[in-house]
Amino acid sequence: MQHDPVGHAAPLVFDSPHSGIDYPADFGCVAPLAILRTAEDTHIDDLFGAAPAQGATLIAALFPRSYIDVNRDELDIDPSLLDGPWPCALNPGEKTKLGMGLIRRLAQPDLAMYDRKLPVAEIQARIDTYYRPYHATVKQAIDRTHQRFGAVWHINCHSMGSVGSAMTSDGPRRRPDFVLGDRDGTTCAAEFTDLVYRWLKERGHHVTINDPYKGVELVRHYSNPAQRRHSLQIEINRALYMDETTRAPNAGYASLKAEMTALIATLASWSRSAASRR
Ligand SMILES: [Zn+2]
Repeated sequence: MQHDPVGHAAPLVFDSPHSGIDYPADFGCVAPLAILRTAEDTHIDDLFGAAPAQGATLIAALFPRSYIDVNRDELDIDPSLLDGPWPCALNPGEKTKLGMGLIRRLAQPDLAMYDRKLPVAEIQARIDTYYRPYHATVKQAIDRTHQRFGAVWHINCHSMGSVGSAMTSDGPRRRPDFVLGDRDGTTCAAEFTDLVYRWLKERGHHVTINDPYKGVELVRHYSNPAQRRHSLQIEINRALYMDETTRAPNAGYASLKAEMTALIATLASWSRSAASRR
């Protein structure tokens, strides 16, 4: 789903790839819904919901990440999931090893997603129906914004459980309030990461950069700082705004949403003036 800017336009694009909660009828997985839902970045689309009114584009997936993860390379597929050979060479990476590639093998460390092999055509249909349209929407929004302003800042929005697990790179420890990821300074200019970092720190948040999350496919694929295409990943600790068991907003929700709205306003005015200087 795409929300176009309605306010004074700014060279900003937000995308929320994991907040979808519409579970497709042909999912055919055996893991219980309550566990599948722990993979959702529930409410992140709403927390950044003020973006269009501030002049930014906001794109949010409606389908769940556990069905197909748009923040992975299209070929990051575990061949052991499939009932036959993929028509070209696959490229399974670290996330596939952890059971969470393009198509998840594990719902949690000791729980398989499926009790069957997946037909190649079924995965291809998920790619054609969900993955590629999402990427096309993000690409068009970024390209169109860059064309208009000569520069674009893309914020890829996520949430993280308050504590890691055996399936995550950081293991079972308490996480910061925010983790900013620019893939070690390669997906956006340092001034942009610093701006967001300082803004959040000044409001008393514990913020880290590239630890434990550096950013994955969506910030890697669409960024090119030398061409003034900047992408930054933001991970928000779910304990700040929701009950991690019921997934309902908690007492912190309204104040966090107000903060994100203020952050978007800051970034909108900053990006308008940054785009116009060379
Ligand atoms: Zn996410």
